[in-house]
Amino acid sequence: MNAYPPVLNNLIRRLSRLPGLGEKSAARIAMHLLKAPAEETEALAENIRQLRDKIRTCRICFHFTDDEVCPVCADPARNTGELCIVESTADLLAIEKSGAFKGRYHVLQGVLAPLDGIGPDQIRIKELLSRIDSENISEIIIATNPSSEGEATAHYILQLLKDRPVRVTRIAYGIPMGGDLKYTDRITLERALRGRQAF
Ligand SMILES: [Zn+2]
Repeated sequence: MNAYPPVLNNLIRRLSRLPGLGEKSAARIAMHLLKAPAEETEALAENIRQLRDKIRTCRICFHFTDDEVCPVCADPARNTGELCIVESTADLLAIEKSGAFKGRYHVLQGVLAPLDGIGPDQIRIKELLSRIDSENISEIIIATNPSSEGEATAHYILQLLKDRPVRVTRIAYGIPMGGDLKYTDRITLERALRGRQAF
C-alpha cells in the first residue's frame, strides 16, 4: 500500500520518469520541494511551464535557442566552411566549452536506432543535406558519439556524402567506445577535434 497522499504520489511518479531518476531519488526530490520556500517551487514550476513556449530550435542548425537563429549561427566570426555534426545540443555545448572548434554545427537531434524505430526521417538528415547543398561548406566533421548507434549514424552520413565535393572527417576519440561527448572532459574533447581524420 502506498502511504503518500495522491498529489505527492503523482509528483513522485512523474519525477521518476525523468532520465537518471529512480523512484528513491524522485521521492527525495519531492520531499525536498515540499519543504522548500514557496518562491523556489513557484519559480521552478514557472520555468517548466515556459520551456515549451520560449525554447525552440535554431532554424539553421537545430540547436536549442530562444531566438529564431542560435548565437553560434548568428556569430559572424564563425567559420562557415566547417560544419560539425553532433547528436544533441548537450554535445554541441560540450564542444563549445572545449573551445577547439570555430565553425558551425548541425544538431541531428538523435541517432539512427532502427530497433527503436528511429530512421533517417526521424533525425535531421534531410536538413543536413540541404545545408550542404546551399551553404558553402568545405569540411564536415562527424562528431557523433562512439556508441554503436553513433558509429552507424556516422557511416550512414559518410555514404550519403560520398558524391558531394566536401571533405568528411571523423573526430579522433580518446573517448572510449560507448563513451559520451557531453561527459567528456574539455582536454580530451579538444584533442579529439584537433586529431580528426579523414573518414
Ligand atoms: Zn544555429
